[in-house]
Amino acid sequence: MANNEDLLKKITAHAKEYGFVFPSSEIYDGLSAVYDYGQLGVELKNNIKQYWWKAMVQMHENIVGIDSAIFMHPTIWKASGHVDAFNDPMIDNKDSKKRYRADNLIEDYLQKLEDKINKEVEKASKRFDNFDEQMFRATNQRVQEYQAKINNVNSRFQKAMINNDLHAIKALIEELGIVCPISGSRNWTEVRQFNLMFATQMGSTAEEADTIYLRPETAQGIFVNFLNVQKTGRMKVPFGIAQIGKAFRNEIVARQFIFRMREFEQMEMQFFVRPGEELKWFAYWKEERMKWHKSLGIKETKFRFHDHEKLAHYANAATDIEFEFPFGFKELEGIHSRTDFDLNAHQTYSGKKMQYFDPELNESYVPYVVETSIGLDRMFLAVLSNAYTEEKLEDGSERVVLKIPPFLAPYKFAVLPLVKKDGMPEKAREILATLQEDYNCQYDEKDAIGRRYRRQDAIGTPFCITVDNQTLEDNTVTIRFRDEMNQDRVSVEELPIIANRLLKNKR
Ligand code: ATP
Repeated sequence: MANNEDLLKKITAHAKEYGFVFPSSEIYDGLSAVYDYGQLGVELKNNIKQYWWKAMVQMHENIVGIDSAIFMHPTIWKASGHVDAFNDPMIDNKDSKKRYRADNLIEDYLQKLEDKINKEVEKASKRFDNFDEQMFRATNQRVQEYQAKINNVNSRFQKAMINNDLHAIKALIEELGIVCPISGSRNWTEVRQFNLMFATQMGSTAEEADTIYLRPETAQGIFVNFLNVQKTGRMKVPFGIAQIGKAFRNEIVARQFIFRMREFEQMEMQFFVRPGEELKWFAYWKEERMKWHKSLGIKETKFRFHDHEKLAHYANAATDIEFEFPFGFKELEGIHSRTDFDLNAHQTYSGKKMQYFDPELNESYVPYVVETSIGLDRMFLAVLSNAYTEEKLEDGSERVVLKIPPFLAPYKFAVLPLVKKDGMPEKAREILATLQEDYNCQYDEKDAIGRRYRRQDAIGTPFCITVDNQTLEDNTVTIRFRDEMNQDRVSVEELPIIANRLLKNKR
């Protein structure tokens, strides 16, 4: 069984080998934390986008979408607090010259303690049949000691983060004896704040050039269009505005494949509500979004909530939906009650009213906002890592199969003539032409059928349709199912109905 680091390496290699994700600018040795999506990656990514858009926009009468520009007026980022406060605490190791996020070093330390507890509990449960009281006491004692340490470190860490106390963070790193994973030394610099926004210049001459930023989140494009959409769409509070688009962050440490990138995509929805009703809607969206994740058919234990103790400057409640990636539970989506912070700030900085007249209350107010914000690339990694399966088959051979939910798979059907003669390719292409109108399909006639099945398994195609000798006699084909590897014989005429049933509702 591969350890977790091995598993991530295997997934990364598989994603490259089969055209899902390539390192960016690879022929120039790549660009750190930037990736390109290949021919299959773009299909999976588009399917995830579509599934989200359908659930959030199409299925809600009171949610509409927009597509705002990446470049925005620089004052927007002053108003939102990003110019002054969109920072991460960074620290350098003087020996390895490597830079780290100071908060991540402490989080990793805490995670290691959690792992130790889990190991102790696992060991003890294995010895349960052979109960030994002395050993049980010793285990219990160790678990309690680890837990006490976690509680102590965590409360000091949270306090330091809330107060932005960089000295306290450094002191904690020193006291815990945290070493640089590369050099193994404790030779650290002071902790400093690092702004994550990319700045660039707009304007063709130096005199007229103005510093603008690549947006670090898509949310602000929604806030500054709030009244445009509300008025032109005749929207009534509560209502939402959704957007899918690129965001850019100059992450201090970018690692773990597409989990933390410098250029990535977000799928966000801002839900505008009456002041005082935001926590009710926060609870509503928390549940709704978890339901959406679970509707993907991924094991429920792979998801969990993580409620925030340290709240961002704009929030009065926040939670993460975490997913169990190969490197542990990490944030996949954030749900924040952002109060009226953003609209108020834009009202102040722009001098334009950001109010909504509520006809039922007969009064005007600045709405409160509940945000759901999910990283598309992280969702892609969640789907991919959950799907990646290595299987030993009964005949002793092995296969790698991507068990992607059929409605998200890049290709839904592969149409395969058993051999390249006797009219089978022609018949297969006829079937392909019918299915192609509704589904993304692949045609493949090269190599033995077994090898072609393996190729389709490796890219996650859920159904293979094979044209064989019998097809030419009675107009039937076999459908092979990716996960169980069993086959059904069905009539070609019924294929469109069967295809629809196999992929029902989730296209
Ligand atoms: P983290 O704590 O992991 O840095 P965050 O709390 O800063 O994430 P948000 O600002 O809440 O993230 O952004 C919303 C979502 O955008 C996240 O839940 C995540 O899925 C995605 N996201 C944020 N930063 C990145 C990144 N660098 N690469 C890929 N996805 C990201």
